[in-house]
Amino acid sequence: MSLTPLQIQELLDENRAHECDGFGKDHVCVRIASIAELPSRFGKFQVVAFYNNRDGKEHAAFVHGDVAGAENVPVRMHSECLTGDAIGSLRCDCRDQLETALQMIGQMQNGILLYLRQEGRGIGLINKIRAYGLQDYGYDTVEANLALGFRDDERDYSIAAHMLMSLKVKSVRLMTNNPMKINDLAAFGVKLGERIPLIIPPNLYNGFYLKTKATKSGHMLNIGGEVRFSEQIDHPVVDGMTFEQIGALHQGEVGLNGG
Ligand SMILES: [Zn+2]
Ligand SMILES: [Zn+2]
Repeated sequence: MSLTPLQIQELLDENRAHECDGFGKDHVCVRIASIAELPSRFGKFQVVAFYNNRDGKEHAAFVHGDVAGAENVPVRMHSECLTGDAIGSLRCDCRDQLETALQMIGQMQNGILLYLRQEGRGIGLINKIRAYGLQDYGYDTVEANLALGFRDDERDYSIAAHMLMSLKVKSVRLMTNNPMKINDLAAFGVKLGERIPLIIPPNLYNGFYLKTKATKSGHMLNIGGEVRFSEQIDHPVVDGMTFEQIGALHQGEVGLNGG
């Protein structure tokens, strides 16, 4: 079961008049603007498009099954990455994470993928490509990371939290490899159950992660020595990685943000 035409009409009517104080420090309020069926290669989905009263960005929820009023709904928060998601760039693994999440949700009873429009960790496409370009010309990775390193985490959780409220989800199970993110989302009033790890199946393209090492500065290098940016909230965990390798990913995060 998914949203019926009647439920869709009710949601749209309700949201047309919706106004609230907003979530987070920016008081972001989003409204459901349109809903449609979206059959996909990952299963049957409905797409819910959101209007945003702050920066005009249009976010989307990809909904599988019945989620309104439901408890323990599996939820994945994905940040937009044009180069990875749409083009299949190997400079990051956003697409692997996106496809794995959609595949998992498509096979579950219900679930939601929140597609958050915060390209390049929220700094936008131009700055992200600028950082890539700096690297191509051999710039210090720290400098390149400065261009990619600022991310308003608080804001994306606030939007995600509001979207879940708009969809009338009662409680969620977050699909994440980062347990700390559960507390961050909970701070916005979302009720959270047990975490669902997102383990990416190994393929031709992500095999590099199996051979990856975290350097002193915490940057992830592939076998060719190129730096890979971790653009998603999560560390990508590929099936077959050892416990030590997963641990090294987490150390990398500390090095990047705290060092
Ligand atoms: Zn609102
Ligand atoms: Zn990416």
